[in-house]
Amino acid sequence: MTYKKFNDRVEEILYGGDYNPEQWPEEIWEEDMKLLKEANINEVTLNVFSWASIQPSEDEYDFRRLDKIMNLVRKNGLKVMLATSTAAHPPWMAHRHPDVLRTEFDGKKRKFGGRHNSCPNSPTYRKYAPLLAKKLAERYKDYDNIVAWHISNEYGGVCCCENCEKAFRLWLKDKYKTLDNLNYAWNTEFWGHHFYDWDEIVIPDLRSEFFAWNRTQFQGMSLDYFRFNSDSIFRNYQDEYREIKKITPDIPITTNLMGFYEDLDYRKWAKYMDFVSWDNYPSNECGPAEIAMSHDLMRGIHNGDSFVLMEQTPSVTNWLPYNALKRPGIMRLWSYQAMAHGADCIQFFQMRRTRGACEALHGAVIDHVGTNNTRVYREVKQLGLELHKLKGEILGSRLDSKVAIYFDWNNWYALRVSAGPSINIDYKNEILCYYRALFSEHIDVDIIGPSDPLDNYKILIAPMMFMSQDGYYDKVKKFVSDGGTFVATYLTGMIDENYLFKLGGYPGEYKEVLGLWVEESDALPEDKANSFIYDGTKYPAKLICDLTHLDKEDDCLSVYEEDFYKGMPVVSRHEFNKGKAYYIGTHSSSEFYRKLVHNLCVEQDIKPIIDISALDDPEQIEVTARENYNGKFIFVLNHSDKDIEISLPQNGTVLLSEEHIENGHRIKIKAHDLLIYKV
Ligand SMILES: [Zn+2]
Repeated sequence: MTYKKFNDRVEEILYGGDYNPEQWPEEIWEEDMKLLKEANINEVTLNVFSWASIQPSEDEYDFRRLDKIMNLVRKNGLKVMLATSTAAHPPWMAHRHPDVLRTEFDGKKRKFGGRHNSCPNSPTYRKYAPLLAKKLAERYKDYDNIVAWHISNEYGGVCCCENCEKAFRLWLKDKYKTLDNLNYAWNTEFWGHHFYDWDEIVIPDLRSEFFAWNRTQFQGMSLDYFRFNSDSIFRNYQDEYREIKKITPDIPITTNLMGFYEDLDYRKWAKYMDFVSWDNYPSNECGPAEIAMSHDLMRGIHNGDSFVLMEQTPSVTNWLPYNALKRPGIMRLWSYQAMAHGADCIQFFQMRRTRGACEALHGAVIDHVGTNNTRVYREVKQLGLELHKLKGEILGSRLDSKVAIYFDWNNWYALRVSAGPSINIDYKNEILCYYRALFSEHIDVDIIGPSDPLDNYKILIAPMMFMSQDGYYDKVKKFVSDGGTFVATYLTGMIDENYLFKLGGYPGEYKEVLGLWVEESDALPEDKANSFIYDGTKYPAKLICDLTHLDKEDDCLSVYEEDFYKGMPVVSRHEFNKGKAYYIGTHSSSEFYRKLVHNLCVEQDIKPIIDISALDDPEQIEVTARENYNGKFIFVLNHSDKDIEISLPQNGTVLLSEEHIENGHRIKIKAHDLLIYKV
């Protein structure tokens, strides 16, 4: 295994975040420097939203204020992630060049305002955004404290303007070459949609094929528009990336992603990112497993390399209906949680709480009171001290997971627009059900996509793989043949990449390895459930019940207990060469998923990192292991409100206390506390 830091020149854990001194009078800047250094902050992200002030008109640039800020932070020994400011265009640009404005999904043309407000196919935006990136790179290329470029900010959204429509036709021409191919792929004979000219094609939005936000009448066409929109915005990123790379080839480049964000196919993006960075803003309802799953997704899109936690709030967000404070210790715990899943850098939004507009109630290291005398500041300072003590020992270390969960954005798009079988189909939630079970078993998981190799894994779980990418079946077949365990569920292998349904029985080619075919699928309303007995316990069958025929009767592990399909298989296991393929034909309870993955792991001899299954609620205790040339680092995080006691399996050192522990020694972890154990 090779271990890769996000930047070879970084020798310590970077700690800091978004700093916007331009929103404040200069008199306050020196005070900021004092307070940031006192909080053990060693890095700031600068220039995220300054386009309008840096560029007052088409051919005027004014870097004087940014020069001052850059010199100030360099003088104070802070590292910099320098942003390009292109996530919000200046008002003058919208006024003089309205092509830069977006058109919404319902056809409404926007006026100037907000952020993420530029049409990705606007000639104006495509001219001036990379030009600004180039000017910034030229001006600041010799600042040796720049550790990364941060392009734009939280890319996202969709545009449906005329420029996008024209660009969509070109994208389609490039993809399909002929209208015959396109008509076939979109099945346009349905409802008489045959196209004779590329110009007849319009954007599938609320003015055309959609009749509600997620309800389209032409799935293949809509899927292509999602892909096109993701590609268009991705091209904006690439425009800037190329300009910067020409000037500073040795400084890594990133943009901050947003975890399970539906609109952009991040896996495609990650190929053009020198490292992944992302913003972690879980809702109040998110449990530790769901947050962990997002970290694993973000690590997974970049070959499992360590990543940067670009943003989190130190205390509170401002956009939720109820913006609960992070309780004492939670910011620290969640920061280490990011690290436990691969983060090499912990950052906040924001350093000083802004005075006006919509983020004035968003948490910050320095609050409106303006002093170091706050709970949040003290917690930030304490964490900074700890990260400083950890030095850079952990940087670049990786998780060595034996279990992978398959997740694909194209499949997400397809399920999002699927007309039937149930409006309650929820791809992310189905993934989470299996993930939570593994999380509770204290087993490391990688979240992988179609192009990732399977060699390192013993178990591959692919919930709801409705669309299977071309050629993926061959990988799965080899994986199982070689001894792997494959798990498929209801809604697997039904469509190709164009949303054309497979003929000859579901789940398409996967019939072979699973040893079955699915004849029908029954969608149950929320208040209805069937049931089945698995491994001696009764579990509910909810949401979808597949009516399945097995090639071999002996493969059946559970049958439905009710309705006209009583006695038909719901859980099956088929041996295929050296491996096994499971089919779970329904959605069930968390107890079922726990039992299933426990059995799968036993069967494959995958053991928990630390066996603490006897604890009251294993889902509140998180365990991961990272490894590099310096050793193996076991993270144990106590998310519960109670103190726990665990046995440590090997001799090692607790990093923050530097206490040496002998094999089998019991150690207490307080509520919301953690330990990092080096063995
Ligand atoms: Zn547009």
